[in-house]
Amino acid sequence: MIYFQSLTQTELAELLKPVSFPKARRSAAPEAAAGEFSSAENQLKAEKKARYRAKQIFHWVYQRTVTDWDQMSDLSKDLRAWLRENVEIYRLPQRVNQQALDGTHKFLWNLADGKTVESVIIPAALQEKENPDRDFDEQPAEKFAGAPVDNKSLSSERWSRLTACISSQVGCAMSCKFCLTGIQGLDRHLQVHEIVGQVHELRRIAPITNIVFMGMGEPLHNLENVAKACKILLDEDGLNFSKRKVTVSTSGLVPAIEALGREVDVSLAISLNASTDEQRSRIMPVNRKWNLEALLGACRDYPLGKHRRITFEYVLLKDFNDSLEDAARVFALLRGIPSKLNLIPFNEHPGSEFKRPSDETVRKFQKYFIDRNVTATVRISRGRDILAACGQLRSVFGTARGTDRHRDWAGSPGPS
Ligand code: SF4
Repeated sequence: MIYFQSLTQTELAELLKPVSFPKARRSAAPEAAAGEFSSAENQLKAEKKARYRAKQIFHWVYQRTVTDWDQMSDLSKDLRAWLRENVEIYRLPQRVNQQALDGTHKFLWNLADGKTVESVIIPAALQEKENPDRDFDEQPAEKFAGAPVDNKSLSSERWSRLTACISSQVGCAMSCKFCLTGIQGLDRHLQVHEIVGQVHELRRIAPITNIVFMGMGEPLHNLENVAKACKILLDEDGLNFSKRKVTVSTSGLVPAIEALGREVDVSLAISLNASTDEQRSRIMPVNRKWNLEALLGACRDYPLGKHRRITFEYVLLKDFNDSLEDAARVFALLRGIPSKLNLIPFNEHPGSEFKRPSDETVRKFQKYFIDRNVTATVRISRGRDILAACGQLRSVFGTARGTDRHRDWAGSPGPS
């Protein structure tokens, strides 16, 4: 059985070609059928028909959210029967679904092999604050009454943007020191249908407008599957995301950044988090292989379209990378790269060796860039009441392996 969500529209059309020949000819003896195949005219007809059917099916599944072949009323009975036998519309079962008071929605999915992965829906108004005078913990009261929101309210018109943060691997091999998923280690890559499946499920719940590959895993460590999943997400007959609204984030796998740029046209984000090689190598082992010079060189060469910028993520760690000297060095590093900076005050979790800087420190760091005309936003901590940091939900409810430190925490009472 083939999973529908693992197929591009072109691949689906190719698959449908043999069943797109006229019925009488298909039911003829095998030798005759082979003869028919060799006819250039029939071949062309079958190709055209298969392409048309693939388009119809993409509409049914991705735009009309139909998951039962029998409901696709404009497909022939024979074709529906063939699809039932050969292609499965993959559904990701939910293990846990939690919503924070601030509107963040977090999902833990069960995979077929018993492993779990996470996705998060982040409503736009919470994603960032550009006003440096605001208190970073202040809730935007005009948007949030403080009551829990449900799936229905996510579907309402109240959000200008709903970003889905999705996973690309079960766990992660990159071992970034500030990240809970990094502590858990890598279990396996996600397959294409498991990546697209997350978006397919979330789209059924809410009108997702943006996708970021910033959930569990290093997307470029799983480049082949991530690049193919991106092509499926961008298909205008399918989920129809604009290339500007799909962002792949990496910790800095330099050769894969170049390969991504060749494979598919999506936005790029870099998890920077340091202003010197020494600092970065301490918290991100990948920097020992590809240092800042190599990383920023790959960013300069990345094929950005007009008016597009690379997002640099910077997790602010108290007394480690949050000084104004750090800000000055980051400013110098990014010179000449069309960029925007996303500052993320560290989301503390039990057992972490780092602390969150004060709001005052965050504000000064941000102001350094704003004063120099660099876009710098601060992402407020989201969904603290639902363990929204990367890897947290899975470590309490899921199947993470974990270290001793992590096991201690997993054994502690989780949220109710
Ligand atoms: S921050 Fe990203 S790349 Fe680093 S360990 Fe966590 S999931 Fe992996």
